[in-house]
Amino acid sequence: MKLRLGYLYPDLMNIYADRGNVDCLRKRCEWRGIALEIERIGLNCGFDPRNVDILFIGGGQDRQQQAASKDLAKRTGSLVREAVDQGAVLLAVCGGYQLMGNRYVAADGSELAGIGLFDAETRHPGSNVPRCIGNVAAEWQDGLLVGFENHGGRTYLGPQSEPLARVVAGVGNNGEDGTEGARSGLAFGTYLHGSLLPKNPHFADFLLQAALQRHHPSVKLEPLDDSEEWAAHRAALAKTGVKSR
Ligand code: GLN
Repeated sequence: MKLRLGYLYPDLMNIYADRGNVDCLRKRCEWRGIALEIERIGLNCGFDPRNVDILFIGGGQDRQQQAASKDLAKRTGSLVREAVDQGAVLLAVCGGYQLMGNRYVAADGSELAGIGLFDAETRHPGSNVPRCIGNVAAEWQDGLLVGFENHGGRTYLGPQSEPLARVVAGVGNNGEDGTEGARSGLAFGTYLHGSLLPKNPHFADFLLQAALQRHHPSVKLEPLDDSEEWAAHRAALAKTGVKSR
């Protein structure tokens, strides 16, 4: 059995170990005898939306986001939307998450178009305003997600998108409404780097199970021995001062 992952702008959008999310998904598939084929989707590449089960885009600073935003606006953005409409799962982190919303107003006031997968808008209040930096814990389903955030932009969700999680420690989307990340159908956005998935194995498997739904709906993922992953989760959580649940 195989799954296919489209990795958007791997050379541009990859900071604070975001690439580790792709490695984590590949490994968790491999341990279960599933081959995860990875297609790198660079500028001007495009891709076939019928041929991806998962899409991933990582974080990047404003300059890298400019290039990605322009490319998304040409063709790739509509392909991403098409793939998600057809049942592909998307995970977008930080700068990538901002570009999956309606728009991002950068630190210098310039406006970067987003693809509108999330009903969300991000504004950077300017480089003289403190960035949101630190360890995060956020309630997700009946557990927690842990990770590290470092962003200037503040994201505000509109009524068509729900938050991915609720902040227990850290800033998350904007530091005002307690939300972290966004979810619209099969698209998930988050500010959590770290890498996120290696220390949140429950979320990694949730994404993989959702991705299997498209072409292998009867397959149930076998549980793995995640003792090391949960030890990493607890170590990250300890940094926030929040107690395990
Ligand atoms: N440039 C964006 C911001 O600072 C995203 C940063 C990031 O991806 N870490 O808000």
